[in-house]
Amino acid sequence: MAVIDYCISRRDEKYGVCRWDEHYNTSRGWCQSCDPFEMTQTWTSESIDVDDCIKEFQFMATEYDKVIEWIPFDRLNNIQQIGKGGFGEVFSANWIDGKRKVLNDGKGFIQSRTKSYLVALKTLSSSSNSMDFLKEFKNHMRCRLMGSSLEVYGLTKNTITNQYMIVFQYANNGNLRHYLETNFKELTWKDKLLRLMDISKDLSLIHEAKYIHCDLHSGNIVLHKEGSWIERLKTYIIDLGLSRKNEGTPEFYVEFSELCMNFDPQKRPTAEEIFHKLEEWYNLINEFDETENYDDTQELDRFEFDEIDEIDESKVEMFNKFLESDEIVKQLPMAMKIHQDSEYTRKFINTDIISERYWEDSKMN
Ligand SMILES: [Zn+2]
Repeated sequence: MAVIDYCISRRDEKYGVCRWDEHYNTSRGWCQSCDPFEMTQTWTSESIDVDDCIKEFQFMATEYDKVIEWIPFDRLNNIQQIGKGGFGEVFSANWIDGKRKVLNDGKGFIQSRTKSYLVALKTLSSSSNSMDFLKEFKNHMRCRLMGSSLEVYGLTKNTITNQYMIVFQYANNGNLRHYLETNFKELTWKDKLLRLMDISKDLSLIHEAKYIHCDLHSGNIVLHKEGSWIERLKTYIIDLGLSRKNEGTPEFYVEFSELCMNFDPQKRPTAEEIFHKLEEWYNLINEFDETENYDDTQELDRFEFDEIDEIDESKVEMFNKFLESDEIVKQLPMAMKIHQDSEYTRKFINTDIISERYWEDSKMN
């Protein structure tokens, strides 16, 4: 019986010949029908949940150098702490095996690896509970699949502390806070705009994946430079683990917040308009709360149109959306709530240093 080749339309001579079968690859050095299967057979993290999670993303990979993997802890050395925050610790490490890389050996594309490679490791905030920790990791991966540019290489487990860690691209220029503190005077508008474009691009991809970051600040925006050109400096958003699916947030609220962030300032509402919109929503909730005269200890029921037919239906719908959203937020994992006390969130851009520098600059000019 002939087997249907679902990938036939993507096979192309220019990608080289599959390692496992006599057909062409579906991308450079990668065969979508053979490689994911082969890739998932030869390793185990010794946790079925972790194995399943990694394999799920291995099956989704469409390019060899974007495949994540289980990285045994003994394949990492020279581990040094480079950061610590409310969400966990960050380390730099040398990955002995190097990251995946597609090579052209003259005859075609082949699967290869770099030499040993500098990577970053980050403990995940809830790695003591494997299920919550995997949720965080999946958030990272889904944003990555949508095009978020920070490279993710896989997962490892510190065999001494038993903590799982995400292995990702090491950013050699540190975080944005540090970068601004040390380079502020040298930064031109061209540099600043490039950084802002990178950040907004990454953020828009996260939003496109229907996630919201929840904790964006200069401590979790990192910079990486390849070579000496300033144009080669790339900015990335990290700490996607606490991002959450934009589920539950009422659509009209999302639309309004997007309007507030419109690229064209002329299209953004004024502070006064924002105040009035928020006041309108607040009053609406208040009005319905009083109508219902609800008791916090009781289960809240959705308003039914027939109960209050004298009230505008669209207002009822709006109120119900707020109510549903409140319920969804109550179900969120604890990790979402921890960050309010975290040391990390308090480390916003050091405005004292910046205003001091503006002051110095203005004195000089
Ligand atoms: Zn194949």
